[in-house]
Amino acid sequence: MKFGIDIGHNCPPDTGAQGIKSEDSLTLDLGNRVIAKLKNLGHEVISCLPAKADTVKESLEQRCSTANAANVDIFVSIHFNSFNSQANGAEIFAMSEPGKKIAYSVLEEIIKLGFLNRSVKNGKHLFVLKHTNMPAILIEACFIDSQKDINLYNPEAMANAIVKGLTS
Ligand SMILES: [Zn+2]
Repeated sequence: MKFGIDIGHNCPPDTGAQGIKSEDSLTLDLGNRVIAKLKNLGHEVISCLPAKADTVKESLEQRCSTANAANVDIFVSIHFNSFNSQANGAEIFAMSEPGKKIAYSVLEEIIKLGFLNRSVKNGKHLFVLKHTNMPAILIEACFIDSQKDINLYNPEAMANAIVKGLTS
């Protein structure tokens, strides 16, 4: 399989949320772990993180055009949530039916780590889901402003869960 892994933000002015931890540093670390693990399993991985962009829109456009040009089988955007320090748990956005199937598979594995199941949600408002040509998901792994989630979060376990969900 050929995966397009999109490490969220990390491309100023496209920067992530700040909570107890920084979304940029967590997505970069988690994304790199997912990429390494998929490659170890023999999958082809295209990193969709742009080297630079002048605007957020340009950053998002480049992520999609990289995935579309490489004709990846599945596009996976990795993010962390932030809200009011009380909200917690994992949710995954998808649009297409094949995308939702993959989303449920990944979410099931993340939930096993103890995170609240916030379910698979319709991501039709999300740029990278709308503008990619293949089944696509956007993972909100957990909340970076929730002490409960941060205490529970282990990058290696989260990466294993995502890879297991993507490949099972
Ligand atoms: Zn994000």
